[in-house]
Amino acid sequence: MNANVYHEGEGDLSLIKDKLISIIGYGNQGRAQALNLRDSGLKVIIGNRNDEYKKRAEKDGFETYSIEEAIKKAQIFFFLIPDEIMKELFASEIHPNLKENETLIFASGYNIAFDIISLPPNVDILLIAPRMIGIGVRELYLNKKGFFTFIGVHQDSSGKAKENLIALTKAVGGLIKGAIEVSFKQEAVLDLFNEQGFGPAFGQVLLKSMQTLLDAGYPPEAVLVEMFMSGEMSYTYEKMAQVGLVKQTNFHSQTSQYGSMSRGIKFRSISKEIGKKQKEILEDIESGKFAKEWEAKLSKLKFKFIKFFATRLPFARVEEKVRNNLNIPEYDLFAEIPYPTEDDIKRSKEIEQELKEFEDFYQDL
Ligand code: NDP
Repeated sequence: MNANVYHEGEGDLSLIKDKLISIIGYGNQGRAQALNLRDSGLKVIIGNRNDEYKKRAEKDGFETYSIEEAIKKAQIFFFLIPDEIMKELFASEIHPNLKENETLIFASGYNIAFDIISLPPNVDILLIAPRMIGIGVRELYLNKKGFFTFIGVHQDSSGKAKENLIALTKAVGGLIKGAIEVSFKQEAVLDLFNEQGFGPAFGQVLLKSMQTLLDAGYPPEAVLVEMFMSGEMSYTYEKMAQVGLVKQTNFHSQTSQYGSMSRGIKFRSISKEIGKKQKEILEDIESGKFAKEWEAKLSKLKFKFIKFFATRLPFARVEEKVRNNLNIPEYDLFAEIPYPTEDDIKRSKEIEQELKEFEDFYQDL
């Protein structure tokens, strides 16, 4: 079934122009969406902790408040804080200060879809999730090119949730290119699947391709530039979006087209395997198994170890040398990921075997 898609001609800003909007969190999305909403003629204040982000909001000319005060003052709230801190913040500062028929907007379906946050039945719960990083949300609003947005209504207490949603999406700049209606769960699953079903499979293919060439004796500088450091791939992705997945091949030579189209068949059997693994990953996401795992007591510790192993995979050393030789300033990942502490190691005893598997996996890549 096709989705409902909303465009710029729709959305009535007069429905929301007298309401006060609080942007909670002035980070990547927060700053971009706050500026867009204000430039669309709406009244916007900022709720943030008292630090650098708050100063930036003041410099941008916004009235700023603590999160608690910003919730008490306004009627419409955009929650643009990291997903993983929402549960705690909702319980302490947000939930107790909500009033009937107020409008809560999320930029990610995750916390609602997987019941991590539960909310009162007398508020509207909306989704406005740009498929774009914060800086793009601002730039593409200013140059009127727009960005795709996933939108949805999870709870309609006021009876006007849908009209308000379309109006607010328009004000953010989310109707210029088009807003696609989905449920919170669909948004969350699609996002997680892209990260878990596609990203790692793509990563494995990329690493294996580079290893194949390095093993065959090709110079690392040339291999890395060929495979990703030229930026050609991101350009090709942009063309896929602009003209079409297959049609963009016309931008490449005949030899390139024949080679890639004729060799796909050699990967037919592993492609079936990938499909099977992706189905398992999708089922784990849809059933809430992944969210439960991520919410579990030891998961943040497990993540700390996995990230530590991942940033020390042998390929990282090759890349470090190549970047030096090519004079590409290196950003020292090793300095950023600290060694697990004595206490971390002690606490990780319960998951020791699992962690060993991750360590071996990253060393073998
Ligand atoms: P950022 O990490 O850029 O924003 C962080 C904001 O949250 C800052 O204002 C920060 O302020 C505040 N914050 C962080 N920790 C705390 C805390 N413990 N208590 C109170 N405030 C805190 O987030 P994003 O803009 O990346 O993400 C916001 C939402 O947008 C998320 O739901 C995300 O899933 C969604 N989204 C993000 C996209 C992206 O490209 N980044 C794309 C589409 C959706 P300070 O630390 O100063 O308190």
